[in-house]
Amino acid sequence: MCWIFAYNWKGNSIPLLIDWLRNLEYRGYDSAWVFWVNTSWKFYLEKSIWKVSNLASKVDHSNSKNTIYTNWIAHTRWATHGKVTLENTHPHTSNNDRFYIVHNGIIENYVELKEELSKKYSFYSETDSEVIAKLVDDLYDWDIKNTLERLIKKLIWAYAIVLIDKEHPDTMVWAKLGSPMIVWLWKDGVFLSSDINAINNVADEFTILEDNETVIVENGKYNVYSLWEIINKQTEKIADDFEIADKWDFETFTEKEIHEVPNVLINALKGRINFENKTITNETLEELNTYDIDSIEIIASGSSYFAGVVWWGWFKELAGIKTEIKISSEFLYEKFLPSTSTLYIFISQSGETADVRESLKMVQQKWCLTFWIVNVVWSTIARMADMWLYSHSWIEVWVASTKNIVWQLAVLLLIAISMWNKRDLQNFEAKHLIEKIWELPNLFKEQLKNKEHYKSLAKKYSKYDNFFYLWRNLMYGTAAECSLKLKELSYLHAECYSTWELKHWPLALITPDFPCIAINPKWKLRDKTISNIKEIWARNWTILWVITQGDTLIDIYDDIIEIPDSHELLNPFLPLIPLWIFSVEIAKELGKDIDKPQNLAKSVTVE
Ligand code: GLU
Repeated sequence: MCWIFAYNWKGNSIPLLIDWLRNLEYRGYDSAWVFWVNTSWKFYLEKSIWKVSNLASKVDHSNSKNTIYTNWIAHTRWATHGKVTLENTHPHTSNNDRFYIVHNGIIENYVELKEELSKKYSFYSETDSEVIAKLVDDLYDWDIKNTLERLIKKLIWAYAIVLIDKEHPDTMVWAKLGSPMIVWLWKDGVFLSSDINAINNVADEFTILEDNETVIVENGKYNVYSLWEIINKQTEKIADDFEIADKWDFETFTEKEIHEVPNVLINALKGRINFENKTITNETLEELNTYDIDSIEIIASGSSYFAGVVWWGWFKELAGIKTEIKISSEFLYEKFLPSTSTLYIFISQSGETADVRESLKMVQQKWCLTFWIVNVVWSTIARMADMWLYSHSWIEVWVASTKNIVWQLAVLLLIAISMWNKRDLQNFEAKHLIEKIWELPNLFKEQLKNKEHYKSLAKKYSKYDNFFYLWRNLMYGTAAECSLKLKELSYLHAECYSTWELKHWPLALITPDFPCIAINPKWKLRDKTISNIKEIWARNWTILWVITQGDTLIDIYDDIIEIPDSHELLNPFLPLIPLWIFSVEIAKELGKDIDKPQNLAKSVTVE
């Protein structure tokens, strides 16, 4: 989950190093450091915990342009093993202070290794990573390549490692297993990053390392090795329109990304739907329909999991195929019963989510049919599956994911409609649904204009500590996503429960100070839900309804958020913008840092 940026270059690199750290700060890290070797082969290291600005103010900027290639490393840590302290901040070193390592990931067998190495070496940190530095020293045989070979045989993953030997300060060594690593060339230098987004507008060309590949860098040149043979890696040209994270005029990135939702939806639909004759026109979906599929399993985590939950409901309604939804971390360790007539769909925004990636590998090893839905084109997952659909929804940088679920839902809905059409070619209802989908971007734009209303509700509701998000059936995924956003941004407690289940136990929690957000648009279960909410109204609960505009059947409430009248299957899209803005505004009322939720980081690359 941390981020490594390393390079071998002649330029004046300090501003570059600090800028890179600043650019990445949004991703939610807890310590950072920079390290470089100067032209007289002296090592410079500065560490700091929490904010990158703490580090930037400490760094010595006096370095001028180099005439020889030297090594530079910046790293942000997201602590997995050991508290956020300077001792635990990387790089970690061997006892003789010769070998310096940086590590991204988790070494799962570090306890055994540490026990063994403790007989010979003293440890100063609580991290798993420190064992790597001691192990390098232990295994060193005067040849760094051989040493690396022996090192990675001992480590039980996952890792991206950068290694420096003080005796050879012009050389850098990289290795990876599980964690992403990208190498790129720019102005005569060789650069490495653990995040494809970091290459944005600077790289000329790049290559992505595969597991077990290693790299040795020296004097602006690099060699990639696989099984200790040099291999010829293909490089890719960087696209001219590679995006840069920009906040525009918004106060926070999170709000900017919420405002991108109408265009994100247009991008996800464009070229995939023919709006003239209301049909789906996508080669991948046509190909998908050539397979004989009798069931579907969706594998995802976090907000992507909730997109899968909504789809699970849609799919049963529309395509009549048995569908299951699994949390990736559980799926990976359950007994896997492969089926060649099942389609396995994987959803991940970043394309790096560790347990989604590993689940995909596991399914592919059994020769099953895989399909992924992802946002980042060059990500690990994006290079693995049999079939895929990209979102085309621009870089999502902020920790609290918002626009992401909208394109995921759109793409999932297209899959459902296309499979539905396969069974019923004269599908008039599908045409009507497609017509209604195309109205969604404008409905979203209208919702964004109501910000002041959601904000005034947030002001009122920010005094509560606990919330219930209530749903029935198709609204479950949406309610869960909206309650997640409230918890993630404001750190308030929120439960998400089926309205029907209230009588089984949640009513026991009733107090007027436990407001309930009842999501109940016009659709088949509306009337039953009204009865359930009347039962809690009778017991003095505070109720904020989310209902279809002009629904006069709803006569009891404290407050209302109206959502537009649309096709009933599209209802899961419509509470998202109002309830996200509601959460953002509550978090602002409480003085929380919207763009950097505590303890969280973007891209969950460790299990
Ligand atoms: N496991 C290492 C640590 O806790 C690295 C964590 C990370 O990937 O940021 O220091």
